[in-house]
Amino acid sequence: MKTLLGGLRSRILLLVLCVGLIPVSISGFIFFHFYERLGTAPDVVSITSEAQLLSNQIVTSGYLQDPSVESLNTQFSALSNIYTGRVIVCDASLKVIKDSYNIYEGRTFVWENAIRSLRGETTTLLDRDSHCIIVTVPILAGDSSEPHGVLLFTKSTEYLEQNSHFFMNLIFYLILVGAIISAITALLASERLTRPLRNLSQSLAQVQEEESPRILSISGTREVADITEKFNTILMRMKGIDDSRQEFVSNVSHELKTPLTSMKVLADSINSMGGDAPLELYQEFMADITTEIDRETKIINDLLSLVRMDRSGSSLNISSVNINELVEMILKRLRPIAEKQQIQLVLESFRPITAEIDEVKISLAISNLIENGIKYNSPQGFVHVSLNSDHRYCYIRVEDSGLGIPEEDIGRIFERFFRVDKSHSRKIGGTGLGLAITKNAIDMHHGQIQVHSVLGEGSCFDIRLPLNYIEDEREEKTNYKP
Ligand code: ADP
Repeated sequence: MKTLLGGLRSRILLLVLCVGLIPVSISGFIFFHFYERLGTAPDVVSITSEAQLLSNQIVTSGYLQDPSVESLNTQFSALSNIYTGRVIVCDASLKVIKDSYNIYEGRTFVWENAIRSLRGETTTLLDRDSHCIIVTVPILAGDSSEPHGVLLFTKSTEYLEQNSHFFMNLIFYLILVGAIISAITALLASERLTRPLRNLSQSLAQVQEEESPRILSISGTREVADITEKFNTILMRMKGIDDSRQEFVSNVSHELKTPLTSMKVLADSINSMGGDAPLELYQEFMADITTEIDRETKIINDLLSLVRMDRSGSSLNISSVNINELVEMILKRLRPIAEKQQIQLVLESFRPITAEIDEVKISLAISNLIENGIKYNSPQGFVHVSLNSDHRYCYIRVEDSGLGIPEEDIGRIFERFFRVDKSHSRKIGGTGLGLAITKNAIDMHHGQIQVHSVLGEGSCFDIRLPLNYIEDEREEKTNYKP
């Protein structure tokens, strides 16, 4: 978690820094890219218009033939001063007629831009080495499109460079200030944004150390509150599982101990008589011990069935089974027990049903229900089993005219070791595991079981099983009301 938070923090830091610095740097770059062009544009416009005015005068005054025209020479030297630069006048053969620096006069000025101007173009060049802009303009007169020569102006750009130094410094300081502000913001933001996570991490660490974990208080950002809430739900579920596991273990120990205690009491009583006990008493005690052993065996068998179901999870041994035949077999096996207790067993089958089930597990589930119907019944009562189906499901109903279940206990009868009347249930051989096994088996088939019972009148258990076994549980999560 520490490294995670460290990572998150540095990422937020980096992000805020980038968001703060990138726009300033990009604007600085764009500014410098366009600054020189924008800065020289007005000069180029004024030089060009000046040159156009002059070129007319040059042609009309015959300056190209005789460069001693005073008024023009004065203008050239004035312009040269104003521009802190140079004025060069060339004729049509690019021979320099006038150079305000008096260097090139009489020479032929062969330069690419001058040649282009001789063809009618106005050219501009920013010469960074000489710190000036050079503008060449064709000398035109009236409507004539044929240049008579070329006028060249240079203008110093030192004022631009001074300004650009100033702006460069300004932008540097802006970036620096931006970086400092971004760094402070980034630090504060990363600290603030990761604080709820750090708090959650601390609470989790406390939970880890505590033996009985407590619910975390829900605070922080919406996302953190959401995680905390989900964590609390998982925590409660785990606590529930742990509680029921502990309860199960203590129930198992208790249930297994009870028959052993009875056996020990019986054996001790016989022993204490030191061989003087009458034979009938021996026989009676031995019969009681056998009953307790049977009971212990039944509890262990039921427990094994449950554990096997829990462990095997979805590994069912699925095959196509004739449900009518299966129920008939179960009834055949249980009929002697029912007759012994004068309970009438009735099967009502509405149609032949074949379903994809684990025969052993479903058989155990149905047997448990019918056995309960017999066990918790009174003489002359009945257990009525009915079978039906539609295109998707098979419906099995086990109805009895027995004791019924109190309303407040109906919600608990599928719990392991739960018995409505412990002493009565124990007397008739109940372990409290039968319905838990039944429910497990039905759940594994993604089926549903419902119970309806009226105390003193009887109970009715309804099972719905999919005809075709489907591995994905979600497909069968529809509400079932028999
Ligand atoms: P047991 O082995 O004790 O029968 P079960 O899990 O099968 O355990 O049943 C749990 C309890 O539910 C029983 O102890 C009994 O009190 C009650 N019960 C189950 N089925 C019936 C029924 N058909 N009629 C009345 N009570 C029932």
